[in-house]
Amino acid sequence: MITLEKVRQRAESDAKRHGYYLNPDPKFLESLLEGLEQNEGRYGYPLCPCRLASEKFEFDRDIICPCDYRDPDVEEYGYCYCALYVRKDVFEGKTPIQPIPERRPLEKQVRAYAVSTETLAEKPSEMGAMIAEKPSKDQRKMWYCKQCGYICFREEPPFICPICRAKREMFGEIRIQADIRR
Ligand code: SF4
Repeated sequence: MITLEKVRQRAESDAKRHGYYLNPDPKFLESLLEGLEQNEGRYGYPLCPCRLASEKFEFDRDIICPCDYRDPDVEEYGYCYCALYVRKDVFEGKTPIQPIPERRPLEKQVRAYAVSTETLAEKPSEMGAMIAEKPSKDQRKMWYCKQCGYICFREEPPFICPICRAKREMFGEIRIQADIRR
């Protein structure tokens, strides 16, 4: 069984191997590691704690930590999308951590949404198609970050807001009436 300590050790050794550091804020780091631990316990793989997942391995492969986007993000911005892995200058506080653009292709994000809601539109290629899709009975919940307004569809709020880094407690659920979802 995975433990928080194992998740931490794995992240530390991976950071060391690649010449990276882990986020210097102990509380923030703890939240990310807990997110990874819980995701691994739930799905069987350490899913990125900041992203929407399909919960199916074949569609989530690119966002299993460390994700496919970590290295280019660290190189370009100094830290990964969740800011778990950071560059030396960021670790030393010389470069601030701010929200960065999502490098994961939109098609994959839409696919994750479609698979996770089991509506499976015919391979939607645009966000518009996703929004227009009629929700199924088991429509996923919608959450918003009270700090920055970020919105996502999933069973539970993310562990960390990918935009402003607010913690899970800062997310509120948006309830959508059945009649206006039709
Ligand atoms: S963004 Fe960072 S924490 Fe998330 S999967 Fe990629 S490397 Fe891991």
